[in-house]
Amino acid sequence: MERQNAWKGYKQKQLKELEALCSEYRDFLDNGKTERECVKITIEQAKKSGYKNLDTIIKKKQKLKAGDKVYAVIMDKAVALFNIGTKDIEEGMNILGAHIDSPRLDIKQNPLYEDTDFAYLDTHYYGGVKKYQWVALPLAIHGVIVKKNGDTVNVSIGDNEEDPVFCVSDLLIHLAGEQLEKKAAKVIEGEQLDILFGSRPLPDEKKDAVKANILKLLKDKYDMDEEDFMSAELEVVPAGKARNAGLDSSMIMAYGQDDRVCAFTSLKAMLSVDEVERTACCLLVDKEEIGSVGATGMRSKFFENTVCEIIDRLGEYSELKLRRCLKNSKMLSSDVNAAYDPMFASAFEKKNSSYFGRGMVFSKFTGSKGKSGSNDANAEYIASIRKIMDDAKICYQLAELGKVDVGGGGTIAYILSLYGMEVIDCGVAVLNMHAPWEITSKADIYETKKGYEVFLKKA
Ligand code: MN
Ligand code: MN
Repeated sequence: MERQNAWKGYKQKQLKELEALCSEYRDFLDNGKTERECVKITIEQAKKSGYKNLDTIIKKKQKLKAGDKVYAVIMDKAVALFNIGTKDIEEGMNILGAHIDSPRLDIKQNPLYEDTDFAYLDTHYYGGVKKYQWVALPLAIHGVIVKKNGDTVNVSIGDNEEDPVFCVSDLLIHLAGEQLEKKAAKVIEGEQLDILFGSRPLPDEKKDAVKANILKLLKDKYDMDEEDFMSAELEVVPAGKARNAGLDSSMIMAYGQDDRVCAFTSLKAMLSVDEVERTACCLLVDKEEIGSVGATGMRSKFFENTVCEIIDRLGEYSELKLRRCLKNSKMLSSDVNAAYDPMFASAFEKKNSSYFGRGMVFSKFTGSKGKSGSNDANAEYIASIRKIMDDAKICYQLAELGKVDVGGGGTIAYILSLYGMEVIDCGVAVLNMHAPWEITSKADIYETKKGYEVFLKKA
C-alpha cells in the first residue's frame, strides 16, 4: 500500500501555514527544554485562549458548563486541558495525550567535586540514551533549585548567546585505540558522564580552589550553598536552538522532539478548536521515558482525579458517571515513531515502517517480543479513525517501530486503555530518536496538527 508524500499536494496557502506552524514549533522547543518549561509555555498559551485554572474554580465553588475551558497542573511537570463539550460528559471525551519529558543528563544530589584543577558536576542519565552521543558537544543546564525556606530559583545557563556552555569530555582519537575496541555501550560509561563545570581557582585558597571558586559564583548568582543541590532538579540538555534542516529546509533538527513534537501539535490543535460536542482534553505528562512513574507520570491518579473534579464542577459527580465518562472516551496516545532510515535499513521492515513526508503515523500496537507491553488498538476504532482522517484529507500512514524482534518501545497508551476506552498510538516519525539532536519532517508536523484537530472535532 503506497501512501502519498504530503509535500506533493501542497499549494502556496498550505506551505505558508506549514512554515508558520513550524516556526512556532521551533520557538516551543527553544523555550521548552524541560517538562517544567513546557508546562509553563502551555499554561501561558492556554490562558491566552481563554483557559482558566481549575483550582481557582474549585476554590471559588464556581460551576462549569459547556464552552468552558480549564486547565489543571501537577507539580509544575504535567498539565491537562479541558474544553467542555455540549454533550453530557458521561458520553466520553476526545483525548490527545503526549509526554513532555525527554532523555537527558540529570545532576545528582551531591554533584560537585574537584579533580586535578577541574570542577565537575556528577550526573545520572534519564531515559534511554546512547551515552557516547553525549560527549564533546555544548550542553546547557535548565532547572530549579529549591531552598529550605521554599524559595525557588530558576536556572537556565547555556542557551543565550552570552552564556557559557558545558561539556562532557571525550578521549582524543590519538589515545583512543583501546577505547575504540570496546562495545558501543561501554565506550562511555554512566559514571563518566560528568559535566566539566570550571577550571579557575580562587586565589589564596589552599584546597579545592576551583571548587571553592564555583561555590562562590553559585552564591553570588543564585544565593545558593552546596547543600542546596540536595533539593535541586537540574537537567543537562544540548545547548542551542532548533534549526531548519536540509538544503530545502524541509526538516527540523532539535533536541527533545520525542515527544515535544506531539505535545506541541496536540496543544496547537487543542487551542484551535472552539465549540465541541464531546469534551476535548489535551494531556501532557511527565516521566514517560522512565516508565510513566511518579505523581506526574501517566500512571498516577492525576488525570482521573482531575476528571472527578470536572464532573463535580459540572454539578453531577458520581463514581459511576466518572467510570462511564472514561470508558466512553476516545484517545490518541501521541508519541514519536522510528522513521525509516536507509542508512540503517536492516532495522526496518519496509512495508510497515513510517516515512518522512507521508504524514501522521498510526500504530495498532507497540511493545516488543511479540507485542508485549503494548496497547493493541481495536480494528473498529481504527476504521472510524481512517474515515475521519480520509474525510478531512489528512495524510497518514500505519507503521510499526522497526523490524520484529529487533527491539521495541512503549508509550502511555496501555495506561488509558485500562479504563476500557478506545486508544491508538499515533504521532510523528523521527530520525535519530533519543539522540541529542533529533530530526522530523515539517510536512508530518503539519499533517499531525491537522489530524489532531479533526480528531477533537469529529471522533
Ligand atoms: Mn516518546
Ligand atoms: Mn522516548
